[in-house]
Amino acid sequence: MGLGGYARLVAEGIQESSNCEVTGLISGTPEKLVEWGDWLQVPETRRYNYENFDAIKGDPEIDAVYIITPNALHHPQALRVAAAQKHVICEKPMAISVKQGQEMVEACKQAGVKLLVGYRMRFEANTLAAVEKRDAGAFGDILFFQGMSGFRIGDPNQWRLQYDLAGGGAMMDTGIYAVNGARYMVGEEPIWVTAQETKTDPEKFKDGIDETIMFQFGFPSGAVAACLSSYNMNHLSRFFLNGSKGFVELIPATSYGPIKGWTDQGDLGLPHVNHQAKQMDEMALIIHDGQQPVLPVDGQVGLQDLVIIEAIYRACRQGTREELNLG
Ligand code: NAD
Repeated sequence: MGLGGYARLVAEGIQESSNCEVTGLISGTPEKLVEWGDWLQVPETRRYNYENFDAIKGDPEIDAVYIITPNALHHPQALRVAAAQKHVICEKPMAISVKQGQEMVEACKQAGVKLLVGYRMRFEANTLAAVEKRDAGAFGDILFFQGMSGFRIGDPNQWRLQYDLAGGGAMMDTGIYAVNGARYMVGEEPIWVTAQETKTDPEKFKDGIDETIMFQFGFPSGAVAACLSSYNMNHLSRFFLNGSKGFVELIPATSYGPIKGWTDQGDLGLPHVNHQAKQMDEMALIIHDGQQPVLPVDGQVGLQDLVIIEAIYRACRQGTREELNLG
Protein backbone atom coordinates (compact mmCIF):
# COMPACT_ATOMS: atom_id res chain seq x y z
CA MET A 1 0.00 0.00 0.00
CA GLY A 2 1.45 3.32 -1.16
CA LEU A 3 3.62 2.95 -4.25
CA GLY A 4 6.32 5.53 -3.47
CA GLY A 5 10.09 5.52 -3.13
CA TYR A 6 10.46 3.05 -0.32
CA ALA A 7 7.72 0.74 -1.62
CA ARG A 8 9.79 0.32 -4.79
CA LEU A 9 12.74 -0.95 -2.73
CA VAL A 10 10.42 -3.29 -0.83
CA ALA A 11 8.94 -4.62 -4.09
CA GLU A 12 12.45 -5.22 -5.45
CA GLY A 13 13.35 -6.94 -2.18
CA ILE A 14 10.27 -9.15 -2.40
CA GLN A 15 11.33 -10.19 -5.87
CA GLU A 16 14.70 -11.28 -4.42
CA SER A 17 13.07 -13.02 -1.45
CA SER A 18 12.28 -16.71 -1.17
CA ASN A 19 9.16 -16.61 1.01
CA CYS A 20 7.16 -13.65 -0.34
CA GLU A 21 5.33 -12.53 -3.41
CA VAL A 22 3.54 -9.31 -4.37
CA THR A 23 -0.01 -10.52 -4.99
CA GLY A 24 -1.85 -7.20 -4.76
CA LEU A 25 -1.33 -3.44 -5.01
CA ILE A 26 -3.06 -0.46 -3.38
CA SER A 27 -2.55 3.04 -4.76
CA GLY A 28 -4.48 6.26 -5.33
CA THR A 29 -2.78 6.78 -8.70
CA PRO A 30 -4.31 4.68 -11.53
CA GLU A 31 -1.18 5.01 -13.71
CA LYS A 32 0.99 3.54 -10.95
CA LEU A 33 -1.37 0.58 -10.63
CA VAL A 34 -0.90 -0.11 -14.34
CA GLU A 35 2.89 0.38 -14.28
CA TRP A 36 3.51 -1.61 -11.09
CA GLY A 37 0.84 -4.18 -11.96
CA ASP A 38 2.54 -4.94 -15.26
CA TRP A 39 6.01 -4.93 -13.65
CA LEU A 40 5.03 -7.28 -10.81
CA GLN A 41 2.43 -9.27 -12.78
CA VAL A 42 -0.42 -8.45 -10.46
CA PRO A 43 -3.76 -9.10 -12.16
CA GLU A 44 -6.18 -6.19 -12.59
CA THR A 45 -8.61 -7.78 -10.13
CA ARG A 46 -6.05 -7.28 -7.37
CA ARG A 47 -5.13 -3.66 -8.12
CA TYR A 48 -6.99 -1.66 -5.46
CA ASN A 49 -7.36 2.01 -4.61
CA TYR A 50 -7.90 3.74 -1.24
CA GLU A 51 -11.69 3.66 -1.70
CA ASN A 52 -12.12 -0.03 -2.45
CA PHE A 53 -9.26 -1.88 -0.78
CA ASP A 54 -11.49 -3.22 2.03
CA ALA A 55 -12.47 -5.80 -0.60
CA ILE A 56 -9.20 -7.64 0.09
CA LYS A 57 -11.17 -9.29 2.90
CA GLY A 58 -11.75 -12.85 1.83
CA ASP A 59 -9.15 -12.78 -0.94
CA PRO A 60 -7.06 -15.89 -0.22
CA GLU A 61 -4.15 -14.62 -2.34
CA ILE A 62 -3.48 -11.80 0.13
CA ASP A 63 -2.02 -12.70 3.55
CA ALA A 64 -0.65 -9.33 4.64
CA VAL A 65 -0.63 -5.68 3.61
CA TYR A 66 2.58 -3.66 3.86
CA ILE A 67 1.66 -0.02 4.59
CA ILE A 68 4.31 2.30 3.08
CA THR A 69 2.51 5.65 3.07
CA PRO A 70 3.19 8.94 4.91
CA ASN A 71 3.36 8.44 8.68
CA ALA A 72 0.01 10.00 9.60
CA LEU A 73 -1.87 7.59 7.32
CA HIS A 74 -0.51 4.42 8.94
CA HIS A 75 -3.07 4.42 11.76
CA PRO A 76 -6.32 4.69 9.78
CA GLN A 77 -4.99 2.36 7.09
CA ALA A 78 -3.83 -0.27 9.60
CA LEU A 79 -7.27 -0.24 11.23
CA ARG A 80 -8.87 -0.93 7.84
CA VAL A 81 -6.41 -3.71 7.00
CA ALA A 82 -7.05 -5.33 10.38
CA ALA A 83 -10.81 -5.05 9.80
CA ALA A 84 -10.25 -6.91 6.52
CA GLN A 85 -8.57 -9.62 8.62
CA LYS A 86 -5.19 -9.35 6.96
CA HIS A 87 -1.86 -9.19 8.80
CA VAL A 88 -0.41 -5.69 8.99
CA ILE A 89 3.19 -4.77 8.22
CA CYS A 90 3.60 -1.08 8.83
CA GLU A 91 6.48 1.25 8.09
CA LYS A 92 8.20 3.18 10.85
CA PRO A 93 7.12 5.22 12.71
CA MET A 94 4.12 2.92 13.16
CA ALA A 95 1.96 5.98 13.90
CA ILE A 96 2.30 9.61 14.92
CA SER A 97 1.15 9.27 18.55
CA VAL A 98 1.12 6.75 21.37
CA LYS A 99 -2.68 6.81 21.33
CA GLN A 100 -2.76 5.83 17.65
CA GLY A 101 -0.17 3.12 18.23
CA GLN A 102 -2.19 1.67 21.10
CA GLU A 103 -5.32 1.60 18.93
CA MET A 104 -3.44 -0.24 16.19
CA VAL A 105 -2.08 -2.86 18.60
CA GLU A 106 -5.58 -3.33 20.04
CA ALA A 107 -7.30 -3.50 16.63
CA CYS A 108 -4.89 -6.15 15.37
CA LYS A 109 -5.29 -8.14 18.57
CA GLN A 110 -9.09 -8.00 18.30
CA ALA A 111 -8.96 -9.04 14.63
CA GLY A 112 -6.54 -11.90 15.38
CA VAL A 113 -3.91 -10.60 12.94
CA LYS A 114 -0.24 -9.86 13.48
CA LEU A 115 1.16 -6.33 13.50
CA LEU A 116 4.81 -5.95 12.45
CA VAL A 117 6.83 -2.76 12.00
CA GLY A 118 9.40 -2.33 9.20
CA TYR A 119 12.48 -2.23 11.45
CA ARG A 120 14.78 -3.72 8.79
CA MET A 121 17.99 -3.26 10.86
CA ARG A 122 16.66 -5.81 13.34
CA PHE A 123 17.32 -8.48 10.67
CA GLU A 124 20.72 -7.18 9.45
CA ALA A 125 23.61 -9.62 9.90
CA ASN A 126 26.33 -7.26 11.24
CA THR A 127 23.83 -5.72 13.64
CA LEU A 128 22.78 -9.15 14.89
CA ALA A 129 26.45 -10.20 15.22
CA ALA A 130 27.07 -7.15 17.44
CA VAL A 131 24.06 -8.07 19.60
CA GLU A 132 25.16 -11.71 19.80
CA LYS A 133 28.69 -10.74 20.88
CA ARG A 134 27.29 -8.40 23.51
CA ASP A 135 25.09 -11.19 24.86
CA ALA A 136 28.12 -13.50 24.95
CA GLY A 137 29.93 -10.94 27.11
CA ALA A 138 32.50 -9.90 24.50
CA PHE A 139 32.23 -6.23 25.49
CA GLY A 140 31.85 -6.85 29.24
CA ASP A 141 29.40 -4.66 31.15
CA ILE A 142 27.74 -2.25 28.75
CA LEU A 143 28.48 1.33 29.76
CA PHE A 144 27.75 3.67 26.85
CA PHE A 145 25.98 3.85 23.50
CA GLN A 146 26.23 6.58 20.91
CA GLY A 147 23.63 6.59 18.13
CA MET A 148 23.53 9.15 15.35
CA SER A 149 21.04 9.18 12.52
CA GLY A 150 20.36 11.89 9.99
CA PHE A 151 20.57 13.33 6.51
CA ARG A 152 20.15 16.73 4.86
CA ILE A 153 16.59 16.83 3.62
CA GLY A 154 15.92 18.44 0.23
CA ASP A 155 12.60 19.61 -1.24
CA PRO A 156 10.92 21.89 1.35
CA ASN A 157 7.46 20.97 0.01
CA GLN A 158 7.62 17.21 0.61
CA TRP A 159 5.25 15.46 3.05
CA ARG A 160 8.13 14.79 5.48
CA LEU A 161 8.16 18.53 6.28
CA GLN A 162 4.36 18.82 6.67
CA TYR A 163 3.21 18.20 10.21
CA ASP A 164 -0.21 16.84 9.22
CA LEU A 165 1.38 14.00 7.24
CA ALA A 166 4.66 13.48 9.08
CA GLY A 167 3.59 13.98 12.72
CA GLY A 168 7.00 15.51 13.49
CA GLY A 169 10.34 16.07 11.84
CA ALA A 170 13.68 14.27 11.76
CA MET A 171 12.94 12.43 15.00
CA MET A 172 9.90 10.63 13.53
CA ASP A 173 11.73 9.79 10.32
CA THR A 174 15.40 9.19 11.07
CA GLY A 175 15.96 9.82 14.80
CA ILE A 176 13.75 6.79 15.40
CA TYR A 177 16.66 4.62 14.18
CA ALA A 178 18.80 5.86 17.07
CA VAL A 179 15.90 5.42 19.51
CA ASN A 180 15.27 1.88 18.34
CA GLY A 181 19.00 1.17 17.98
CA ALA A 182 19.79 2.29 21.53
CA ARG A 183 17.33 -0.34 22.74
CA TYR A 184 18.70 -3.29 20.76
CA MET A 185 22.37 -2.31 21.05
CA VAL A 186 22.34 -1.74 24.84
CA GLY A 187 19.93 -4.66 25.30
CA GLU A 188 17.89 -2.88 27.95
CA GLU A 189 14.93 -0.51 27.94
CA PRO A 190 15.71 3.11 28.88
CA ILE A 191 14.29 4.38 32.18
CA TRP A 192 14.78 8.10 31.53
CA VAL A 193 15.40 10.48 28.67
CA THR A 194 16.49 14.10 28.34
CA ALA A 195 16.61 16.01 25.06
CA GLN A 196 17.58 19.37 23.52
CA GLU A 197 16.47 20.80 20.20
CA THR A 198 18.22 23.20 17.86
CA LYS A 199 16.85 24.78 14.68
CA THR A 200 18.89 26.69 12.08
CA ASP A 201 16.09 27.14 9.54
CA PRO A 202 12.65 27.85 11.05
CA GLU A 203 11.31 28.66 7.58
CA LYS A 204 11.98 25.16 6.26
CA PHE A 205 11.43 23.37 9.59
CA LYS A 206 8.12 24.86 10.74
CA ASP A 207 6.42 24.41 14.13
CA GLY A 208 6.25 20.76 15.08
CA ILE A 209 8.91 19.77 12.51
CA ASP A 210 12.14 19.16 14.43
CA GLU A 211 15.39 19.73 12.56
CA THR A 212 18.05 18.54 15.04
CA ILE A 213 17.57 16.95 18.46
CA MET A 214 20.19 15.61 20.86
CA PHE A 215 18.86 13.10 23.37
CA GLN A 216 20.29 11.07 26.21
CA PHE A 217 19.04 7.88 27.86
CA GLY A 218 19.66 6.19 31.17
CA PHE A 219 19.28 2.40 31.51
CA PRO A 220 18.59 0.23 34.58
CA SER A 221 22.17 -1.11 34.67
CA GLY A 222 23.57 2.42 34.84
CA ALA A 223 24.55 2.46 31.16
CA VAL A 224 23.90 5.76 29.37
CA ALA A 225 23.37 6.77 25.75
CA ALA A 226 23.93 9.98 23.78
CA CYS A 227 22.08 10.27 20.47
CA LEU A 228 21.58 12.71 17.63
CA SER A 229 18.73 13.04 15.13
CA SER A 230 18.99 15.51 12.26
CA TYR A 231 17.48 16.64 8.96
CA ASN A 232 20.42 19.01 8.50
CA MET A 233 23.54 16.79 8.46
CA ASN A 234 24.75 14.19 6.02
CA HIS A 235 26.94 11.17 6.84
CA LEU A 236 25.14 10.69 10.14
CA SER A 237 24.70 6.94 10.54
CA ARG A 238 26.93 5.68 13.35
CA PHE A 239 26.37 3.37 16.32
CA PHE A 240 29.08 2.90 18.94
CA LEU A 241 28.69 0.61 21.95
CA ASN A 242 31.30 0.63 24.69
CA GLY A 243 31.67 -1.84 27.56
CA SER A 244 34.11 -2.67 30.33
CA LYS A 245 35.97 -5.11 28.05
CA GLY A 246 35.54 -3.87 24.50
CA PHE A 247 33.54 -1.97 21.92
CA VAL A 248 31.61 -2.42 18.68
CA GLU A 249 31.04 0.24 16.05
CA LEU A 250 28.73 0.20 13.03
CA ILE A 251 29.24 2.74 10.20
CA PRO A 252 26.95 3.15 8.40
CA ALA A 253 24.65 1.73 11.03
CA THR A 254 21.23 2.09 9.43
CA SER A 255 21.58 2.93 5.74
CA TYR A 256 20.56 0.44 3.06
CA GLY A 257 24.08 -0.93 3.33
CA PRO A 258 26.50 -2.48 3.12
CA ILE A 259 26.67 -2.03 6.91
CA LYS A 260 30.26 -2.08 8.12
CA GLY A 261 31.08 -3.12 11.65
CA TRP A 262 34.11 -3.84 13.80
CA THR A 263 34.98 -4.50 17.41
CA ASP A 264 38.20 -4.03 19.37
CA GLN A 265 38.96 -7.61 18.23
CA GLY A 266 38.53 -6.97 14.49
CA ASP A 267 35.99 -6.71 11.66
CA LEU A 268 32.50 -8.17 11.92
CA GLY A 269 32.67 -8.56 8.15
CA LEU A 270 29.36 -10.26 7.47
CA PRO A 271 28.32 -10.10 3.82
CA HIS A 272 25.70 -7.67 2.59
CA VAL A 273 22.25 -9.09 1.90
CA ASN A 274 19.47 -6.92 0.44
CA HIS A 275 17.80 -5.54 3.59
CA GLN A 276 14.29 -5.57 2.24
CA ALA A 277 14.56 -9.14 0.90
CA LYS A 278 15.88 -10.37 4.25
CA GLN A 279 13.24 -8.50 6.23
CA MET A 280 10.42 -9.85 4.07
CA ASP A 281 11.68 -13.43 4.25
CA GLU A 282 11.91 -13.21 8.04
CA MET A 283 8.52 -11.53 8.35
CA ALA A 284 6.94 -14.29 6.27
CA LEU A 285 8.28 -16.82 8.78
CA ILE A 286 6.94 -14.77 11.69
CA ILE A 287 3.50 -14.49 10.07
CA HIS A 288 3.17 -18.00 8.67
CA ASP A 289 5.19 -20.16 11.05
CA GLY A 290 4.97 -18.15 14.27
CA GLN A 291 8.78 -17.87 14.25
CA GLN A 292 10.26 -15.62 16.96
CA PRO A 293 12.95 -13.31 15.54
CA VAL A 294 16.14 -12.66 17.56
CA LEU A 295 15.04 -9.01 17.89
CA PRO A 296 11.26 -8.51 17.93
CA VAL A 297 9.57 -6.24 15.37
CA ASP A 298 5.99 -6.36 16.65
CA GLY A 299 3.58 -3.53 17.35
CA GLN A 300 4.68 -3.37 20.99
CA VAL A 301 8.24 -2.47 19.92
CA GLY A 302 6.86 0.23 17.61
CA LEU A 303 4.58 1.55 20.34
CA GLN A 304 7.48 1.75 22.83
CA ASP A 305 9.43 3.87 20.33
CA LEU A 306 6.46 6.25 20.17
CA VAL A 307 6.33 6.46 23.99
CA ILE A 308 10.03 7.41 23.95
CA ILE A 309 9.61 9.91 21.09
CA GLU A 310 6.71 11.66 22.84
CA ALA A 311 8.90 11.88 25.97
CA ILE A 312 11.76 13.32 23.87
CA TYR A 313 9.44 16.01 22.48
CA ARG A 314 8.22 16.83 26.02
CA ALA A 315 11.80 17.00 27.29
CA CYS A 316 12.71 19.42 24.47
CA ARG A 317 9.74 21.67 25.21
CA GLN A 318 10.05 21.68 29.00
CA GLY A 319 13.75 21.11 29.61
CA THR A 320 12.87 18.15 31.81
CA ARG A 321 14.23 14.69 32.41
CA GLU A 322 11.34 12.37 31.54
CA GLU A 323 11.01 9.07 33.39
CA LEU A 324 10.11 6.15 31.11
CA ASN A 325 8.17 3.06 32.05
CA LEU A 326 8.11 0.85 28.97
CA GLY A 327 6.73 -2.14 30.86
P1 NAD B 1 7.28 8.57 -0.64
O1 NAD B 1 6.84 9.99 -0.64
O2 NAD B 1 8.34 8.16 -1.61
O3 NAD B 1 6.04 7.62 -0.89
C1 NAD B 1 4.82 7.80 -0.21
C2 NAD B 1 3.71 7.19 -1.04
O4 NAD B 1 2.47 7.39 -0.37
C3 NAD B 1 3.59 7.85 -2.44
O5 NAD B 1 3.42 6.85 -3.42
C4 NAD B 1 2.31 8.69 -2.32
O6 NAD B 1 1.64 8.81 -3.54
C5 NAD B 1 1.51 7.85 -1.33
N1 NAD B 1 0.44 8.59 -0.65
C6 NAD B 1 -0.77 8.06 -0.38
N2 NAD B 1 -1.55 8.98 0.20
C7 NAD B 1 -0.83 10.12 0.27
C8 NAD B 1 -1.10 11.41 0.78
N3 NAD B 1 -2.31 11.73 1.32
N4 NAD B 1 -0.13 12.34 0.72
C9 NAD B 1 1.08 12.05 0.21
N5 NAD B 1 1.40 10.82 -0.28
C10 NAD B 1 0.45 9.87 -0.24
O7 NAD B 1 7.72 8.23 0.86
P2 NAD B 1 8.58 6.98 1.31
O8 NAD B 1 9.99 7.41 1.44
O9 NAD B 1 8.25 5.83 0.48
O10 NAD B 1 8.03 6.79 2.81
C11 NAD B 1 6.82 6.09 3.08
C12 NAD B 1 6.90 5.46 4.47
O11 NAD B 1 8.00 4.55 4.50
C13 NAD B 1 7.17 6.46 5.61
O12 NAD B 1 6.45 6.08 6.74
C14 NAD B 1 8.65 6.33 5.85
O13 NAD B 1 9.02 6.63 7.20
C15 NAD B 1 8.89 4.88 5.55
N6 NAD B 1 10.27 4.59 5.10
C16 NAD B 1 10.96 3.58 5.68
C17 NAD B 1 12.23 3.27 5.28
C18 NAD B 1 12.97 2.11 5.90
O14 NAD B 1 14.15 1.95 5.61
N7 NAD B 1 12.33 1.30 6.71
C19 NAD B 1 12.83 4.02 4.27
C20 NAD B 1 12.12 5.05 3.68
C21 NAD B 1 10.83 5.33 4.10
